[in-house]
Amino acid sequence: MYYTMLDYYLNLFDSNKREFAFEATTRADYDAWKQALRARLQDITGLNRCVPCQGEHELISTENVEGFEAEYHTLETEPGVVMPFYLIRPDAALEGKRPALIIPHGHGGGKRAVLAHQGQFIREALAEGFIVACPDERGSGDRREFPEQGDAPEQARMNSHRELTQLGINFGRTVIGGAVWDLMRLADWLLAQPEADGFLACAGMSGGGQQTLWFAALDDRVSAAITSGYFYGVRDSLIELPQNCACNFVPHFFETADMGELGALIAPRPFFVESGENDPLSGKRRVQNVVEQLDVTRAAYRLFGAEDKVVHSVHDGGHEWRGNGMREFLREARGMK
Ligand SMILES: [Zn+2]
Repeated sequence: MYYTMLDYYLNLFDSNKREFAFEATTRADYDAWKQALRARLQDITGLNRCVPCQGEHELISTENVEGFEAEYHTLETEPGVVMPFYLIRPDAALEGKRPALIIPHGHGGGKRAVLAHQGQFIREALAEGFIVACPDERGSGDRREFPEQGDAPEQARMNSHRELTQLGINFGRTVIGGAVWDLMRLADWLLAQPEADGFLACAGMSGGGQQTLWFAALDDRVSAAITSGYFYGVRDSLIELPQNCACNFVPHFFETADMGELGALIAPRPFFVESGENDPLSGKRRVQNVVEQLDVTRAAYRLFGAEDKVVHSVHDGGHEWRGNGMREFLREARGMK
């Protein structure tokens, strides 16, 4: 016999409404709601506790990584906090200003894993003229803490999210808050490049989809967002699956909002959600748990007459990135149809 707590937390979730559940019916209501929810999210993620810095930048080397000519850069994001990222440039023959694309990685490797597993998507983006940046999240890749460091394949897949969550929570910080801050600083840098045309897309799978979702929700400079394998109601996916990585959990979030509200904060910017029919991380009701949240998101887009800017692409696989329709989505988002 086990006397457990899961039902207690499910009941706690069910018996209380989210404080910022989306209910706006006018644009004015939406604007006020967005401002208030953003302030709350900046607080509970610790984003507003991150410390600005000079943003020292260095180009370290150029390497051949998974067939790409990848520039290895470092960027200081807080005093003493350094984020490495790969930068891959489109064909030099393409003329004019360029859009930028950030691809944050998921669990199971850092920036290098993006080049290995999303190479086709990167090639499509380069062909569309995008400058592509793939950063390491705090605690992953070349930012792993000492217990997870090492070059063996099983070590390269490890991350320090548990350690960083445990350390951060005592300072009011979270892994996702730090990740969003770092993506914001990468956006500062990318958008300041002389060839940047001001269009910034962000696309990610799984933990990269999580970073993309939160980043786009909290920063209007993200012109278009693609999230794969990470958009679902928290009840089925995080409360009933509490063994998920510690980085998924934010103090008070289950009292504040659900994923549909994070999507609603992105309105009316183009937003693409990819789901696998058999993705266990969507919870036991699978895609239904995605559709319900997207309905909340769409209600916000409707206020802008922009419901067509939300795309839901469902494939027959599991927790995996397929990329179907993303190139067309990015073209359309840029008005290049
Ligand atoms: Zn994690």
